[in-house]
Amino acid sequence: MLQGIGGSAGYGVGKVVMISNEVPVYEKKQVMDTESEMARFQKALDAFVENTTAMAEKMKREVGEQNAQILEGHVMMISDPFMQEEIHKRIEAGECAECAVDEVCTMFVDMFSQTEDELTRQRATDIGDIRVRILKLLLGLEDVNISDVPYGTILVAKDLTPSMTAGIVKENVAGILTQMGGKTSHSAILARALEIPAVLSVENLLQSVRSGMMVAIDGCEGYCVLEPDQETTIEYEKKREEYLASREELKVYAHKETVTGDGKRVELFGNIGKPQEAAKVLEFGGEGIGLFRTEFLFMDNTKLPTEEEQFLAYKEAASQIKGKPVIIRTLDVGGDKDIPYLGLEKEENPFLGYRAVRFCLKEENIYRIQLRALLRASAFSDIRIMVPLVTCTEELHRVKELVEELKGELEQEGISYKKDIQVGVMIETPAASEIADLLAKEADFFSIGTNDLTQYTMAVDRGNAKVAYLYSPYQPSVLRSIKRIIEEGNKAGITVGMCGEAAADPLLIPLLISFGLGEFSVSPTSVLQTRAAISKWTKEQADKVADKVMSMTTAKEVEMYLKEQSIS
Ligand code: PEP
Ligand code: MG
Repeated sequence: MLQGIGGSAGYGVGKVVMISNEVPVYEKKQVMDTESEMARFQKALDAFVENTTAMAEKMKREVGEQNAQILEGHVMMISDPFMQEEIHKRIEAGECAECAVDEVCTMFVDMFSQTEDELTRQRATDIGDIRVRILKLLLGLEDVNISDVPYGTILVAKDLTPSMTAGIVKENVAGILTQMGGKTSHSAILARALEIPAVLSVENLLQSVRSGMMVAIDGCEGYCVLEPDQETTIEYEKKREEYLASREELKVYAHKETVTGDGKRVELFGNIGKPQEAAKVLEFGGEGIGLFRTEFLFMDNTKLPTEEEQFLAYKEAASQIKGKPVIIRTLDVGGDKDIPYLGLEKEENPFLGYRAVRFCLKEENIYRIQLRALLRASAFSDIRIMVPLVTCTEELHRVKELVEELKGELEQEGISYKKDIQVGVMIETPAASEIADLLAKEADFFSIGTNDLTQYTMAVDRGNAKVAYLYSPYQPSVLRSIKRIIEEGNKAGITVGMCGEAAADPLLIPLLISFGLGEFSVSPTSVLQTRAAISKWTKEQADKVADKVMSMTTAKEVEMYLKEQSIS
């Protein structure tokens, strides 16, 4: 049995498929027989062309023309005479095929990623993909297409990046296992959105499993059993059925009002990454979208989405949720959210670096397009703008200035928009928490991003397994910060919501009710469970628990006490 962190609840049994998009390690060799080395390269190239063409055909049938074109482009790029000549030259000079392919692709990646032109920069990502796939073919490693894995697959990876997970067909994936990533890493958030059980941060995972091995996963407690015997397999299948049945039972909470035990109404929204997920929020009776992570629009693309594309996506989300509020977070790039075609430099401390609103205010052209798209979409619905990673009031000032400028532009062009569109702030840094009183005077609403607030308050990388023991919203420092933010927002008369994962933690519900949180925004699959948990607590009961918790000194103590108090 291997222990990790429960990243997405549920149980699954299946066969391992290992996936990786890292450049494989190979041995650099001088070759004497250059002719047979050339033949070896040609064989790998033919296989690459054949596989890619077949994948493109399949994609055309099942997903659509646009994605297929990307793959067809890969065949064209590798067939380019100049590229071929460069590879041949190196092999003829005695380099091994792996080395020749790696060097030539790296040369193109470097060249393309340094240009100003966005389309050319995007080629760098494509060539990077080609490099990995041909090297795998040369080394006889499996090349897995994630959207094509068979039914009953357990995906195993060092870490799942959002772009890797984009193609998952959820019916075929029984579970996800990773060696890295915490509860609030983006792979965990995606796994939860797809309702796939996941265990993350499993130490030495990649040394312990191999493709084809059977594995049973417990995403609730965070462990997995390798090569389970028949008895264990039956036990896990049973647990899976019970878990699914308990989710069915929660359905009585669908389309009910969200009220505390003593009848106080709070708002319960859903978090989404794609416009289509808004329908899912509605299906579970969510009352709006509390966080639309727009970076997925940028990540699932090979170039910057245009104003029109963004406008349609935002309008689509609003129409799917039938006119209820939609809080759209502007581009939150950087940290663990890489968008390869932006060609951002690797940084020493990406979580403390050039990201989110910092990036957007420097790359104003990109930001203006997004804000214009948001304003245009606001003509049709209650769309609200939310700014991530704010650390000082100047950032909010500048965003508001830009919004006003763009309103003027639209006015002149005769394009409609919501005149009193709200501009709110994510409170997810200790700096924002410290100046919550100042920000509250100028922001239309707050939404607490506990995933980052915990990371920055505790100074722990949210995906680093070694320091995961410190990463907890039960830490007294994090709880004090949350309490203060809610109090300052309420004092200023603005709505305070929470869209970090802590909003869906049933143990924290009494504290959030007691502090006066007005809006909970959780993943669509957590809507019913959160509504059920909120309905169990009266303000008086919640205050008692909160008073006790706020006098405690350790996260462990807090967690244990909250578990004792939990009402099921
Ligand atoms: C957060 O930080 O709590 C949050 C909701 O944003 P993300 O997880 O996308 O960083
Ligand atoms: Mg965040």
